[in-house]
Amino acid sequence: MMTLKGQEIAVIGAGVVGLSTALSLQEEFPLANITVFADKFNNETLSSGAGGIFRPEINVHHDEERVRTWCKDSLSHFLDIVKSSECSKAGIQLISGYHLSSLFSDFKNDLVQSLVPEWRKLNEKELQCFPGSFKGGQFYTTPVIDCKYYLPWMKSKFENAGGKIVQKHVSSLDEIPDNYSIIVNCAGLGAKGLLQDEMLTPIRGQTIVVKAPWIKNFYYADTVYIIPGVECVTLGGIKDYGSWKKEVDLYQKQYIWDKCTELVPSLKNAEILYDWVGLRPFRPSVRVDTSFVKHGNNYRLIVNNYGHGGHGVALSWGTAQDIKRMIKKIATKGNFTVSKL
Ligand SMILES: Cc1cc2nc3c(=O)[nH]c(=O)nc-3n(C[C@H](O)[C@H](O)[C@H](O)COP(=O)(O)OP(=O)(O)OC[C@H]3O[C@@H](n4cnc5c(N)ncnc54)[C@H](O)[C@@H]3O)c2cc1C
Repeated sequence: MMTLKGQEIAVIGAGVVGLSTALSLQEEFPLANITVFADKFNNETLSSGAGGIFRPEINVHHDEERVRTWCKDSLSHFLDIVKSSECSKAGIQLISGYHLSSLFSDFKNDLVQSLVPEWRKLNEKELQCFPGSFKGGQFYTTPVIDCKYYLPWMKSKFENAGGKIVQKHVSSLDEIPDNYSIIVNCAGLGAKGLLQDEMLTPIRGQTIVVKAPWIKNFYYADTVYIIPGVECVTLGGIKDYGSWKKEVDLYQKQYIWDKCTELVPSLKNAEILYDWVGLRPFRPSVRVDTSFVKHGNNYRLIVNNYGHGGHGVALSWGTAQDIKRMIKKIATKGNFTVSKL
């Protein structure tokens, strides 16, 4: 077994991507000293408000094989948790649901179809069970990850394994103390300020979070969705490309409410808990790479893992495994002090 014994590793970010990466590195290199630096944790992060469904898309990166590997790694991790006694603490459930289209009779997501435990097309009779006139639909079963549980669960696993947490806003990578020779940047949209990454753009989303414990399935219909979490149900979701607006838009709220209650009328009886706005960290290609950057008289390894857009929950464990493999490969080549156990 290889370990980066005594190596100081900084992970910037405590969203689903940062915590997955920190935890994966902690498990792989138990003798390294890993610190998470972040200004927001748990319910303050974007990740905490995501619907959290595993429904990735192949176009998140130009290398399709890599995307498939990320998705397979993520899915098997989520399914392992579902099969374990940890699933309720981690907030991960296997949920079945419907994806409907009023425009297309045949629409596809080959990636989801090839990976999830159950997937089939809906027949005419099933389509007629929904109000409105849908031309096509799918039924599938997939993990739903409620980050209100998953983030605190990962954070405490990381800390129990010896990981350190520092609450801090990082304005520049140079602010990370000199003793850290590896910095893993999982800052989500925050990477725009840290690296002046012009390719990173917000895609604003808005949701209504309701209490409706009778909703046991997820529903996607054209532009809206209904996703049950552990305690609440998320109704969404707007996609405003390039918008930094954090305020709730009342017109969009009405649109989500009208469309979701039209699809599932019993939602009219749901208690509305709160409205939520989140900015997805969109990049034409998710950034998962490494480079050596000069720092004083030395070089340090900068590892990037950000720009997951609308699929960060689904891809989080997979891209974290890629980061782990990349660091391991560099360590094997002897760039870092590596000891064999
Ligand atoms: C409405 C909506 C619904 C969604 N639904 C889904 C879904 O169903 N499935 C799915 O897979 N994805 C979904 N997403 C997308 C998902 O939420 C994101 O892809 C994911 O949360 C990104 O995670 P992250 O860890 O990169 O970012 P974040 O959660 O934003 O975490 C970034 C972390 O970095 C820290 N940070 C940033 N900058 C700095 C800095 N300068 N100094 C210190 N700390 C810093 C922050 O404090 C935070 O801890 C949805 C998004 C929205 C908006």
